[in-house]
Amino acid sequence: MSDCLFCKIIKGEIPSSKVYEDELCYAFYDIDPQAPVHFLVIPKEHIASAADVNESNAAVVAHIFTVIAKVTKQLGVDSYRVVSNIGLQAGQSVFHLHFHVLGGRDMTWPPG
Ligand code: 5GP
Ligand code: ZN
Repeated sequence: MSDCLFCKIIKGEIPSSKVYEDELCYAFYDIDPQAPVHFLVIPKEHIASAADVNESNAAVVAHIFTVIAKVTKQLGVDSYRVVSNIGLQAGQSVFHLHFHVLGGRDMTWPPG
């Protein structure tokens, strides 16, 4: 999508600090980290949020979780949280599906 921030990051039109990339997804460090380790994993296909995952595009979500497992191991992070905010009330600010991966500090529950 031409006016989507994360589509622009995938295309390299906006610089980002890459963690991992393959044909299906892109991972990069969050510009405003909320934990010592905080990166985002996004599908290269534009999907607005997890509310738009369906039978025809769901495979990339499973793939992203394999990437999260691999990249966190590479980074030496063995305890972490995966978050996807869906909709404004939940705190979604970029409407391209993304999974926050947060680690390196104690986490509280329930989340704010
Ligand atoms: P959301 O609020 O939608 O759950 O998460 C969007 C995330 O994208 C936020 O954590 C925010 O810091 C991050 N973000 C917004 N703009 C940029 C950017 O230009 N580059 C990077 N690396 N992260 C961004
Ligand atoms: Zn997009």
